[in-house]
Order: sequence, then C-alpha cells, then structure tokens
Amino acid sequence: MSDCIFCQIASGKIPSKKVYEDEYLFAFRDINPVAPEHVLVIPKRHIASLDHLEEADEALAGKILLGIKKVANQLGLEESGYRVVNNIGENAGQAVFHIHFHLLGGRPFGWPPG
Ligand code: AMP
Ligand code: ZN
Repeated sequence: MSDCIFCQIASGKIPSKKVYEDEYLFAFRDINPVAPEHVLVIPKRHIASLDHLEEADEALAGKILLGIKKVANQLGLEESGYRVVNNIGENAGQAVFHIHFHLLGGRPFGWPPG
C-alpha cells in the first residue's frame, strides 16, 4: 500500500533504524521508545492487523513469531526476558494499520498492562 508508512519503511522509501531484515520481515527501532529496547517487527507485505490475517497467511504468521525470537536474541534479551505486544484496533490503541509486533526489553514490565 503506497500510502502506508510501514510499507514505505519496509521498502526503504522512509528511513528507519533497521535492526533486522529478511525476505519476509523487517524490524526497526520505534521512533518513540517506551523501553531501552523497543523494536517493531513487521511483515513486508501489507496486512492491516492481526484480525486481517487469513488461513493462507499461516506460514507467514510462523515466520513473524520466529523472526521476533531471532531479533530478541540478536539484541541479547533472551536471558533477561522481553515482552511482545500486538495492538489490534481502536480499544487496544492501534495507531498504524500495518500489523506490527512491539518487541520490548531492557527493563521489567508490570502486569496487567494498562
Ligand atoms: P501502535 O500504537 O501499536 O499502532 O504502535 C505504533 C508505533 O509505531 C508507535 O509506538 C510509534 O511510536 C511507532 N512509529 C510511528 N511512526 C514511526 C516511524 N516513522 N518510525 C518508527 N516508529 C514509528
Ligand atoms: Zn503497509
């Protein structure tokens, strides 16, 4: 989608602090970090939200999860732990409608979330 900011980041049209990239995924630092490590992991293909994932996206969904783990390990977070957040729609505070997983680390996180 040409007017989607995360599509443009994934294709390099808008600059970002890239952390990881492969054929299917792109990961970059959040512009407004809420933790010492705050990375967004996205599929390169435009999907509006997790609620828009289809059966045909099963393999991609698996790649996203394994990609998140790969990035977390790359950042050295596996010992201390990390949190993965995916906001879906209005009540959850989704602001960018290209599915993205927040990978947060470097500090403790409370539960339940706000
Ligand atoms: P969400 O509320 O789950 O939709 O999260 C959207 C996230 O995207 C927020 O944490 C923003 O700080 C982040 N964000 C928005 N624009 C950019 C950008 N150009 N580069 C990096 N992160 C961004
Ligand atoms: Zn997009």
